[in-house]
Amino acid sequence: MRPILELLPEELPGEGYRRAQIAHWLYARGALDFAEMTDLPKGMREALSKEWRISEFALVEAYPSRDGSVKYLFTLLDGKKTEAVYMPYPNRKTVCLSSMVGCPAGCTFCATGALGFGRNLTAAEILAQILAIAHHQGISPREIRNVVLMGMGEPLLNLGNVLKAIRTMLHPKGLAMSPRRITLSTVGIPKGIYRLAEEDLGVRLALSLHAPDDETRRKIIPTAQRYPVAEILEAVRHYYAKTKRRVTFEYTLLKGLNDHPWQARLLAKLLKGLSAHVNLIPFNPWEGAPVAGTPKAGILAFAEELKRLGVPTSIRWSRGRDVGAACGQLALKTPTSLTFTPLLEDAGR
Ligand code: SAH
Ligand code: SF4
Repeated sequence: MRPILELLPEELPGEGYRRAQIAHWLYARGALDFAEMTDLPKGMREALSKEWRISEFALVEAYPSRDGSVKYLFTLLDGKKTEAVYMPYPNRKTVCLSSMVGCPAGCTFCATGALGFGRNLTAAEILAQILAIAHHQGISPREIRNVVLMGMGEPLLNLGNVLKAIRTMLHPKGLAMSPRRITLSTVGIPKGIYRLAEEDLGVRLALSLHAPDDETRRKIIPTAQRYPVAEILEAVRHYYAKTKRRVTFEYTLLKGLNDHPWQARLLAKLLKGLSAHVNLIPFNPWEGAPVAGTPKAGILAFAEELKRLGVPTSIRWSRGRDVGAACGQLALKTPTSLTFTPLLEDAGR
């Protein structure tokens, strides 16, 4: 069976009206089974279900956090696993999606990095995360208005599949999302940033900088050996000039590594003229992490120093920490701190 989510809405089976009906069932109604598509002729439903599959998962497990976010653990059809997080802010339902199983970048502070690289996700597997979450939440996939590609994996190292998935997210007959509400977060792969600028889809870019100097950056991000900060910032400047989209810089504060005042000052200097926004992320701990987070007072001081130098700065206090759903905690671990049983759903159809 072939994955139907690999097709753009205009490539779906059927013609004209029928094709639009199928797109509507998939992306507006969130059908995970062709049998649900009751306004299609029965013969057509049967033929479709022989040739195509909708879900990409053998199993979907949901772990609700005390703060309302939900971590989803997906078992793919080949038995490999990946994760996503659902964050229902008032009036703003957001999903954090994965682009890979594991990640090859190996950042020392990231639990996904410690897993190593499993494989790239297909476009269908990326989209299926949204459909499975909507299904489990009992909402239309179109109610999910915000997507952040900040789960497992480095999206710019799987850009072909990521772009394909984004096209269906943006498509008026797909998920009909606004490009401003899709954020792609990258460790900084210059070639990928240039390609994204060329595609000009209007999505937001978040750059995981984490250090303004190459020496520190190389200590915590192995891929930084290949891409110096100056080269990455040149690519970001190009992205900004081409798309006029303000770039966010993410900065996870690690004790004694990247939290010195001189690093705040150097960061402010580097970002001049970029109309950038800095998002400081308190380190989310995970078992066996070789680094520690900057204490709260240090985080506030770093933020103050940046603000004093005129850099728009915010601090992202992560959600879902109790179920291992916060930034950088995705490592396929079943939460142990739960007082209730996880919801299990067999989505293997
Ligand atoms: N690979 C992409 C997207 C996934 S990571 C990237 O690196 O940008 C999403 C964000 O979480 C990144 O900014 C990443 O640096 C950050 N992060 C990773 N591990 C973290 C941790 N343990 N605590 C806080 N933030 C972390
Ligand atoms: Fe990969 Fe991003 Fe984690 Fe680094 S921070 S290992 S790039 S997922």
